[in-house]
Amino acid sequence: MLVCGGGIYGAWTAYDAALRGLKVALVEQGDWASATSSASSKLIHGGLRYLETYDFKLVRKALKERRLLLQIAPHRVWPLRFGVPVYADSRNGTLKLKAGLTLYDTLAGFPDGQMRHRHFGRAQFSDHFPFLDEASLKGGFTYGDAQTDDARLVLELVAGAMAQGAVCVNYAKLLAWNEVRGQVCGATVQDGVSGITAQVRARQCVSTAGPWMAAIAPDQAWCRLSRGIHLVMPALQTGEAILLTAKQDGRVFFIIPWYGRTLLGTTDTDYRGDVDRVVVEEEDVAYLLAAANRYLKTGWTRQDVIGSYAGVRVMKQSDAAHPSDASRDWELKTTGNGLLYAIGGKLTSAREDAAVIVDTVCTRSGVAAGCATGGRDFPWKPPRKFEEWSDQTGAQAQRLGIDAECAKWLRRRHGVRIEQIYRLVGEAPQLAARIVPALPFIHADLLLCARDEMVVHLADLLRRRLPLLILARLDTAEVRRLAELVAPVMGWDEDRIAREVEACGP
Ligand SMILES: Cc1cc2nc3c(=O)[nH]c(=O)nc-3n(C[C@H](O)[C@H](O)[C@H](O)COP(=O)(O)OP(=O)(O)OC[C@H]3O[C@@H](n4cnc5c(N)ncnc54)[C@H](O)[C@@H]3O)c2cc1C
Repeated sequence: MLVCGGGIYGAWTAYDAALRGLKVALVEQGDWASATSSASSKLIHGGLRYLETYDFKLVRKALKERRLLLQIAPHRVWPLRFGVPVYADSRNGTLKLKAGLTLYDTLAGFPDGQMRHRHFGRAQFSDHFPFLDEASLKGGFTYGDAQTDDARLVLELVAGAMAQGAVCVNYAKLLAWNEVRGQVCGATVQDGVSGITAQVRARQCVSTAGPWMAAIAPDQAWCRLSRGIHLVMPALQTGEAILLTAKQDGRVFFIIPWYGRTLLGTTDTDYRGDVDRVVVEEEDVAYLLAAANRYLKTGWTRQDVIGSYAGVRVMKQSDAAHPSDASRDWELKTTGNGLLYAIGGKLTSAREDAAVIVDTVCTRSGVAAGCATGGRDFPWKPPRKFEEWSDQTGAQAQRLGIDAECAKWLRRRHGVRIEQIYRLVGEAPQLAARIVPALPFIHADLLLCARDEMVVHLADLLRRRLPLLILARLDTAEVRRLAELVAPVMGWDEDRIAREVEACGP
């Protein structure tokens, strides 16, 4: 089975298929998760706002996946509470929100107290979120959802697929699907590093190329593309996220803590541009800052924006005037030559959708094997009780001089592989130091990622393995220092270092 596209859909598909015993190849034209799957809001969520469009099936399915992922990947997916303020002029008042959140908890199967919603009076809510404007505040709610690091989620699944025997290659572009007697039978793939072209033979071919497939799909009329951007802002005084409604147009947006910064997003605008060059537009920045500043006591300015990123969603075509109102459904389709392709979907529900892809492949190939990812622990999940393991690895970190915040993120980033980071620090204690004082990344992490995580370019390392270029304003000297640090592991000479540093530039 040949899978084209190493985002979340390709990763889950390859992993599930390899676990079921199929012979699998996965090719990705750039780096793993270099497109939409690293440009998300990083939420593993049911999608509270879809209740307004009565999309109960979608919400129930996503909430089921949320519960499962929290269980099988506690290091990769962690709970995150959200606040929802109620103001005198809020589109949704206390009663409507109470009903919505009760339904959300019900669809989630009545989760425990950590995830269940709670109501707060005005003073209590203000204490909780002291940076929110209090004028006309009536109170609010908090409710539970979950968060991840999307790029690392993909990476761990690719690593899992490889551990099960799949051949997974990044920087390998599928140039054309090959056919015999009108049926797809493999593809021509070009290695982006050597330029060598290879013919890959496969009995089953699947495209999980997201926006690229949508751009060339035979039934393009099915698809609607929309661009979503996020801004990286300074940390706020909270460990919780906030769901707000933009006063300009009534759209929902989020303020989300992530790696010690705040993600502000997202936008949702119809996209007809080049899928290879999705960029943040100045008008999107202005929209998000204006939306947030209607709620913040101390507003953010353009100078507060530390970083930004953009991605493209694929959605079902609809009459909805605004893409925000279009369904986030996913669908598996087939072209006339037998190529299976996936369109739409969410990070949250990609596992279940990928199982449908592999079920179809198995049926077509006469293989009797059911979905293998359902109850299975993630490849890097610690083997012991998560809390116990967290305490023990926290104590180890302290002995090694790694600060507690960094240790918390190391657990989430690496799961059991944290032992390898500790080994590096044990051999060279200076590697316990943070790379940038404001962010919870240490030098040993950088080295392990460079050594073990299929990094080809410096940008892979500094954008996705550790999202430093997104979360910090690094100058050229700092980027160069990091390139020189990993150069011996990467086998880079002076020339290559210079080229890699330049490619990371603005
Ligand atoms: C702004 C935004 C916020 C979002 N937030 C959330 C969220 O918080 N939670 C959630 O659940 N979902 C969220 N989503 C949705 C989620 O991110 C997407 O559904 C998901 O990432 C899509 O994954 P994918 O694998 O289909 O596509 P992609 O991640 O785009 O992967 C497709 C891959 O195919 C590769 N490719 C294309 N052509 C070729 C070729 N010829 N050869 C080889 N490789 C090729 C591309 O390089 C790309 O890496 C969000 C989406 C957006 C845009």
